[in-house]
Amino acid sequence: MPVRTLALSEDVADLARSPAPFVIAAERVVTGAGGVVHPAAAVVIGEGRILAVGPVSQVLASVGEGTPWIDLPGCTILPGLIDSHVHLTFSAGPFIARDLLADDQTALLLRGVVNARQALMAGVTTVRDLGSSGDVALRLRDAVARGLVPGPRILASGRPITIPDGHLHYLGGVANGMVEILALTEELIGQGVDVVKIIATGGNSTPTSDPLEPAFTLEEVRAIVDAAHRAGLPVTAHARGVKGIALLAESGIDQIEHCRMEVAPGTWRFDEALARRLAESGVSAAPTLAASFRALQRQAAGDEVGVRAGAIPIPIRQENARLLREAGVRVVVGTDAGACLARFDEAVHLELELLVEAGWSPVEAIEAGTLGAASAIRRADELGSIEAGKLADVLVVRGDPTVDISSVREVEQVYLGGRPVMLNGNLSCDRRPTPWPWPRSEIR
Ligand SMILES: [Zn+2]
Repeated sequence: MPVRTLALSEDVADLARSPAPFVIAAERVVTGAGGVVHPAAAVVIGEGRILAVGPVSQVLASVGEGTPWIDLPGCTILPGLIDSHVHLTFSAGPFIARDLLADDQTALLLRGVVNARQALMAGVTTVRDLGSSGDVALRLRDAVARGLVPGPRILASGRPITIPDGHLHYLGGVANGMVEILALTEELIGQGVDVVKIIATGGNSTPTSDPLEPAFTLEEVRAIVDAAHRAGLPVTAHARGVKGIALLAESGIDQIEHCRMEVAPGTWRFDEALARRLAESGVSAAPTLAASFRALQRQAAGDEVGVRAGAIPIPIRQENARLLREAGVRVVVGTDAGACLARFDEAVHLELELLVEAGWSPVEAIEAGTLGAASAIRRADELGSIEAGKLADVLVVRGDPTVDISSVREVEQVYLGGRPVMLNGNLSCDRRPTPWPWPRSEIR
């Protein structure tokens, strides 16, 4: 026998101490790339990376004598999930704006610690935080990277750029006119953000803002996009109304959040020509279906929640997402977790379930939440799929999510850079920094 089968838990935790290769084998591996699913398959992990993946017999032949081997009967191995749109420092309560105004920086950071932990337990290995007050999300990002607290890899935009009284203005990223806009963009770049977020129309949690009207001019958005791109950073924008989306389509933007094609209060009309324009320009979209799902449910049950009148119902949002994809737009997982009742322990699972309900196959939905999202956040070279050479960010779930997508809720193990960080429902106590392949010299 060329391998040594390990019992779970203690033995697996021991693997965290050693850079030597080990094998995990399960009923199947969903690679996250090109629809490939290997039945009766195994993954070889070594030095934090995926060394090989394939049918068990093939992997057996490729590993050395005595290589530790973890057998996971009844389980599926898939890439760690990637959520391209979260707010780690938001409360996920029924009234987030009220909480944000009441929370000081310490409270925000503590909320972030709890949310990051929940995301990791849910199988999320990378999140992109698209809006926080001050530099709290950046500090949380660096604390997780240093190993101070457990959490997924974090990319963060810091303060989103918004107009006076615009959506999320209370996060502190207000700019009025070209001079202030350029100054704020440079300030954010200097702070070490990973992405720049623009609030291009109004939004739900800010009653003074109008979701239908563009907040910035095309020249202003282009100026932000150009400055960020010069610094090597992608740019994404919150936009709900068609007018705002049409403006963004001409701006060089990389992604649009929500992208809901609203034309009047409570009214949706899909603009196919605009969708094709987005596809041609290579703009990805995160429909954030999970964002209001629980809130609308709770509202329908008669509870008071912070959702404004005229919210577009979930089935129409699903139809909008389906039509965007049909027009050729890359639709990726972004949940808005942290927003109104969008909890980190289920938002990503909910998003995958809602995509499947909207017409994605389970494997396509998984790809939207792994390699698709990795591409959207510009990390597809290192993350997002179970392929040789990639970082070993791996999720193991019980059951078969290729048949029943809800199996992604049954998280058994999570690996981050080849280290088991969650086993059988428990976080491991590995305090070493999370390995990142790209320089993070700005880590404070
Ligand atoms: Zn958001």
